[in-house]
Amino acid sequence: MLLSAVREAILDFTLPRVCVGCDALMARAEAGIVCGLCWSRVHLLPNPVCARCGHPFSGAECRWCELLPPYVRCARSFCWIPGEPAAEIVHALKYGGWHAVGAEMGKRMSRLTFPDDVVRERVALVPVPLSAARKKERGYNQSELLAAEIAEAWKIPLVSGCLVRTRSTRTQTELSPEDRRANVAGSVRFHTRRVDLAGAHVVLVDDVVTTAATLNECARALYDGGARIISYVTFGRARSAGDRI
Ligand SMILES: [Zn+2]
Ligand SMILES: [Zn+2]
Repeated sequence: MLLSAVREAILDFTLPRVCVGCDALMARAEAGIVCGLCWSRVHLLPNPVCARCGHPFSGAECRWCELLPPYVRCARSFCWIPGEPAAEIVHALKYGGWHAVGAEMGKRMSRLTFPDDVVRERVALVPVPLSAARKKERGYNQSELLAAEIAEAWKIPLVSGCLVRTRSTRTQTELSPEDRRANVAGSVRFHTRRVDLAGAHVVLVDDVVTTAATLNECARALYDGGARIISYVTFGRARSAGDRI
């Protein structure tokens, strides 16, 4: 522990750090690998938001809530995606191998405001799983890194391994909402022998939510596995048509 602290201090002293968001050299006093200017430029979701789905109100009826199955209590996200520098930050976490940025992102996600009943009832955090092939290629599951940081802040356990991908799915980026649902249908299952979540309120963690197809598939698997209420927390959220920015 002490040795690693010494090593880090030496590295800090000898290696200049470059921000993963803007490539600027970071001041020595700044912690982490994203500079303060980049964090201040991230587009937060504007208030007021829907109490359930956390989406900024865009009219009398919340269209985003319609995406969620009835057992999903609420969803919260930190910022809009895409858009700089949030997209760069997510990219650094997922594809740049910068797993240290996960702690900075998770810390901000843990400070999001949830309804009182969710704060009272939530008993576990479950990261959205990666397929075995993708996890091997990346070396880690980015959602698990985010969940670990939130678990520490909320003082509830991180339960990984209770959801498994039964098959690899195509990347969702180019797909329509219907195709996204079809792409992930049946791709996640609950690993019953690992953990007992019967009757529990569980919070699912992912880096980005777009149409909630993947999160909904994981929520269904948790519900099938005995969890009764599920909430979502993500770092980024994609805008839908008509959103305020
Ligand atoms: Zn920066
Ligand atoms: Zn809503």
